[in-house]
Amino acid sequence: MHPYPFSYHRAASVDDALHLLQEYPDDGKLLAGGHSLLPAMKLRLAQPGHLIDISRLTELRGIKRDGGTVTIGALTTHAEIEASDLLRDACPLLPEAAHVVGDQQVRNRGTIGGVLAHADPAADYPAIVLALDATVVAVGPSGQREIPIGDFFQGFLTTALRPDELLTSIRILAAAPNAGASYQKLANHASGYAVVGIAAVVTVSSGKIATARVGITGAADHAYRATGVEQALTGASPDEPSLKAAAAHAVDGVDLLDDLQAPADYRGQVARNLTRRALQVAVARATG
Ligand SMILES: Cc1cc2nc3c(=O)[nH]c(=O)nc-3n(C[C@H](O)[C@H](O)[C@H](O)COP(=O)(O)OP(=O)(O)OC[C@H]3O[C@@H](n4cnc5c(N)ncnc54)[C@H](O)[C@@H]3O)c2cc1C
Repeated sequence: MHPYPFSYHRAASVDDALHLLQEYPDDGKLLAGGHSLLPAMKLRLAQPGHLIDISRLTELRGIKRDGGTVTIGALTTHAEIEASDLLRDACPLLPEAAHVVGDQQVRNRGTIGGVLAHADPAADYPAIVLALDATVVAVGPSGQREIPIGDFFQGFLTTALRPDELLTSIRILAAAPNAGASYQKLANHASGYAVVGIAAVVTVSSGKIATARVGITGAADHAYRATGVEQALTGASPDEPSLKAAAAHAVDGVDLLDDLQAPADYRGQVARNLTRRALQVAVARATG
């Protein structure tokens, strides 16, 4: 199917993109990798009158480390994340997850900023950035602001970004020496999207789990932190009975998605099993 007619604008800079967003407040849309927006336009689920192409803004690209802080530009592609030695050293969870996003063509074009701004409930990175306790950096007409990831995902395809804002980067802290992490997903065979995806980051200290963060995607209408799992793990022994008991809380209080891909009960069972597996791998890496 063809999209509805639209005008195309190539932004020359971030400021230019912000001006264009202000000029077309009702039907202007940023275009990054185009791998979510263009399919939605072709299916006529989205019909922006003005596409504002930011894909050539080099200032939004790249991965940098400054001491213990890693900054990833919004336009950094999945393939660049997958291939980054800097990330493999500072935050191996991200390249591990990038490797299982879609296929090579999707990874070559899709961007981390596009995934987070789009907030598809089945996308992979939302679970990852929640488990990493990342910070989203956005810029708008009144300047730059930082959004804690816990406040970012607000509902189905809905984030804390304002319509006149542009996501510029994602900041994370480099992994601690006693940390281990893992991403486990059950992928849809056709698209690669997560039916359920679990990201776990744990630290182990003096034979106990000191901290645990678990992000879950695919199970609900937006990604969330599994706080019941995290609370059950904190201070527990990193042994199999503790991990199994904690994983049982993966979908506590969650309104599970129930659709053609998977009924709610099945999603819940998969989420608990994959949480246990993600924790097993994370603990083995933290202690290994
Ligand atoms: C066949 C196929 C398989 C896929 N499989 C997976 C998968 O397994 N896992 C997965 O996670 N994803 C998957 N995707 C989605 C892919 O990762 C997309 O690239 C991603 O969701 C969107 O990134 P993009 O750069 O293409 O964004 P675009 O499509 O360009 O934009 C998406 C939305 O975000 C907005 N936006 C983009 N950048 C910014 C910004 N910097 N600031 C503010 N708003 C912005 C746009 O206005 C638009 O509303 C798949 C896509 C396809 C087509």
